[in-house]
Amino acid sequence: MKYYVLFGPPGAGKGTFAKMLVENKGYYHISTGDLLRKEIAEGTPLGMQAKDLIEKGNLVPDEVVCGMIRQQFDSNPDVRGFLLDGFPRTVAQAIALDEMLTDMGEELTRVVSIHITDEEVRRRIKGRALVENRADDADDDIITTRIRNYHEKTEPVIQYYKAHDKYFEVEAHGTIDENYAKVSALID
Ligand code: ADP
Repeated sequence: MKYYVLFGPPGAGKGTFAKMLVENKGYYHISTGDLLRKEIAEGTPLGMQAKDLIEKGNLVPDEVVCGMIRQQFDSNPDVRGFLLDGFPRTVAQAIALDEMLTDMGEELTRVVSIHITDEEVRRRIKGRALVENRADDADDDIITTRIRNYHEKTEPVIQYYKAHDKYFEVEAHGTIDENYAKVSALID
């Protein structure tokens, strides 16, 4: 089974490329952000806990997202592989993912990292706010918190994967199709 991580700052296009890859290559897409928004919409206890954190631009606890990922792996045994989007977002999550995969007799295939600058992050999130109605996209201070959390908590994950020889990065400053071509070239 193939296990790809689509990595990158908020607004990098992970979700967009994941959807294109699902159509073109038949992988199963797991977005922790989408799963959390579903829990919030359904008003579950987990959703209530996550809502405040997400709307302030903070991360939800590692145990919560790791549990969601494991549940997705377990309930989709027949797919050809997984695209993880928005996970792992901390080194603790990256370690937990490796442990989960080892436990299942599997290993991570590769990390495809989509790189854009902080200014591009802001511009894209503001564009998305006009289309998608996400509370965490609508406010400058929240976007600033998300960018800060990305640099402090998520960026260290890059070193972790470089050290494990799993890390591949693409510069995503072009059009969606140009950027997608680079991402897609790194995925079987
Ligand atoms: P984006 O990539 O635009 O930030 P996501 O939909 O991936 O959006 O995530 C939205 C929010 O959900 C994050 O800001 C965070 O609060 C929460 N979240 C998503 N994935 C994780 C994760 N792996 N660990 C902790 N929090 C997460």
